[in-house]
Amino acid sequence: MSDIEKVIQFVKENKVKFLRLQFVDILGFPKNVAYPIKEGEKGLDELRDILENGVYFDGSSIAGFVGIQESDMILKPDVSTFSVLPWRPNEKSVARVICDVYRTEGKPFEGDPRSCLKKILNELKEEMNGEFFVGPEPEFFLLKRDPHNPHKWIPADDGGYFDVEPLDQAPDIRRDIVLALENLGFHVEASHHEVAPGQHEVDFKFDNALKTADSVVTFKTTIKAIAQKHGLKATFMPKPFFGMNGNGMHCHQSVWFNGEPSFYDPDAKYQLSETCMQYIAGILNHAKAIVAITNPTVNSYKRLVPGYEAPVNIAWANKNRSAIIRVPAARGKGTRIEFRAPDPTCNPYLAFTVMLAAGLDGIKKKMEAPEPVEKNIFKMSEEEKKQLGIESVPSNLKEALDELECDEVLQKALGKHIYENFMEIKRAEWDSFRTSITNWELDNYLVY
Ligand code: GLN
Ligand code: MG
Ligand code: MG
Ligand code: MG
Repeated sequence: MSDIEKVIQFVKENKVKFLRLQFVDILGFPKNVAYPIKEGEKGLDELRDILENGVYFDGSSIAGFVGIQESDMILKPDVSTFSVLPWRPNEKSVARVICDVYRTEGKPFEGDPRSCLKKILNELKEEMNGEFFVGPEPEFFLLKRDPHNPHKWIPADDGGYFDVEPLDQAPDIRRDIVLALENLGFHVEASHHEVAPGQHEVDFKFDNALKTADSVVTFKTTIKAIAQKHGLKATFMPKPFFGMNGNGMHCHQSVWFNGEPSFYDPDAKYQLSETCMQYIAGILNHAKAIVAITNPTVNSYKRLVPGYEAPVNIAWANKNRSAIIRVPAARGKGTRIEFRAPDPTCNPYLAFTVMLAAGLDGIKKKMEAPEPVEKNIFKMSEEEKKQLGIESVPSNLKEALDELECDEVLQKALGKHIYENFMEIKRAEWDSFRTSITNWELDNYLVY
């Protein structure tokens, strides 16, 4: 039976009533259109037509897509992503399928983030018989309304790292989240209370980059939906509260060639292969521009400050968490690097695209990685950092965008359409922030 017929069989047996066709805009926000499935064979024929040929939609109202003069586009379902949404009713249930966006002439749309990632993954496969694996660690806050001010959201509990009840007030919510994710086919590895009050982490197993990017989108939607059912708000905002840890999305990653892991070499220094060192060098080399994509909001840069386990320094280390790249202790098949800059406001398809492009650039150009920095960089003086050649990540969105503007390798990986639209949207975002008057300014300057 073909994959499409399997889906149709499932829909028939389980009386699935709605099919959502889903994709993301340039910022990574999920978008969807739902089709009711009519009863009987005729309804299933209509469903077959949608799954085989896709549907037309108007792309002109989607951020970063097209103008109204060329608005018709096609959503083509990737049936391997078909899943029933566990937070929707059991009767007359709702399924969703992730789609690729096509132009009406039948070509993949160059502004579709999923197609962008697929393109670089295909190149890796064709040119080097390679595969890219990513394991992300998205963090989030659960918030409740402030009883004294209903317009304000505050952390839903006072727990901290790995706390148990009663400090952790969310075990039931995390339980519901994990069960929902398992229903969606996730392999959940662990869940725990994070460092800040109301902050949590749920880890799922690494997979190939396309599947992982799809999963990140599904993950965020699931967490928001379950939190809402419990009367709370989930946020992936990088730094919602001054003085507390922010939300990161560290990305563990490795590249395999010819079906074999390539980052491990038992005889090499640190047991890290030459390929791994070149990959690290590539990421470090492009780091200032990468963060424009992996840390794409004004608020992202308020997380990348010393003192909160978020990285600031462009260096790599074996254990040290103050460096932007850490290499976890696992060796053998599990050898991987952890890039700690990303936060969960990134568009995962674009984030994985630029990380891979940077790493591959390191491999292709045989870049040399510096020595690891095992000292706490946060405690080093500026002089010491300068001597070791340790630079810092951009300190705001504008600086990061300026770096991306100079990085042709990353621009090429994103493609002209995505790069130009991303820049336009983000420059406008920065300008809007730059010209707005914040509470901090009023608190400090009204005295003048
Ligand atoms: N919240 C931290 C960050 O922003 C990470 C904390 C941790 O996972 N140990 O990256
Ligand atoms: Mg973790
Ligand atoms: Mg964490
Ligand atoms: Mg981590």
